[in-house]
Amino acid sequence: MAKTKKGPRQSAGLQCSVCKSFNYITEYNKNNETLMKQTKNISTFPLNKYCNVCMKHTSHKMAKKLK
Ligand SMILES: [Zn+2]
Repeated sequence: MAKTKKGPRQSAGLQCSVCKSFNYITEYNKNNETLMKQTKNISTFPLNKYCNVCMKHTSHKMAKKLK
C-alpha cells in the first residue's frame, strides 16, 4: 500500500478568541470530528486553552489558514 498524502488528519492552528494570537498548532482527525458531531452532537472546537498573551485560559478557535 502506498502512502497517500491526503488523510483524515488535518492541521489546525488554534487562535485565541480574545487577543487573536496563534498559540497552538494541533492535528485533529477530521473523520472523528464529523462523527462526534453526528453521534454526540459535540465539537472539538472551541477549546479551552491557556493563552500566554492573556495569561489565562481562554477559548481557542480553529484557524483555517496556516502558513
Ligand atoms: Zn489571548
